[in-house]
Amino acid sequence: MKILENLWQVAGPELTAPEDAAAYLLRLGPAAALIDAGSGEAVPDLLANIARVLPPEVPVTHLLLTHCHFDHTGGAEAVAGHLGCRIVAHALDAVFLEAGDHAATAASWYGRRMVPLRIDHKIQGAQQTIAVGNGEIHAYHCPGHSPGSMVFSADLDGHKILFGQDIHGPLHASLRSDRGDYLRSLRFILALNADILCEGHYGIFRGQDEVRTFIASFL
Ligand SMILES: [Zn+2]
Ligand SMILES: [Zn+2]
Repeated sequence: MKILENLWQVAGPELTAPEDAAAYLLRLGPAAALIDAGSGEAVPDLLANIARVLPPEVPVTHLLLTHCHFDHTGGAEAVAGHLGCRIVAHALDAVFLEAGDHAATAASWYGRRMVPLRIDHKIQGAQQTIAVGNGEIHAYHCPGHSPGSMVFSADLDGHKILFGQDIHGPLHASLRSDRGDYLRSLRFILALNADILCEGHYGIFRGQDEVRTFIASFL
């Protein structure tokens, strides 16, 4: 599903499998990044969606994981293996992925087991800029829903795009959620003043007003 020129949704309940959170593909000139990888229930469909919109000479160089939960990461190993790209996650959530922690990754909520997943690049600290193609993607640590939740932001044709997958939460003890962190993160995300928000379960919000209203509704 095309969102903008060079920005597509390639996974989600209507596109791939009911267990899949949304996954997005962002092309920045000669290369592209995939944001989240779905649950792994429909990897061939996700890969076919990428192949449908991305010319074969444009590699996907990065799989950026917004957080460790199964609906976003269960497909990561298979997808990254096929694409030959590096897997990036915040160090505080990488711990749960590399350990295959069924509770902290919410795999147990789906009646599944989390297969331990090796993270190639662990982001430390509050923020980092990742070079992709001829552009860059800014990664911001926004804990709360999980300890290592992140949002990613990039400029595309004058639009500030925000990938904020589980802005809506939920907060739960087994997910190691923290309400204080969550509220601070929401205020931070609001202040980014994004033009387009690509969310994990609520779809795509267009225009600063729509984005702001959605984020503020969880404060
Ligand atoms: Zn989540
Ligand atoms: Zn989710």
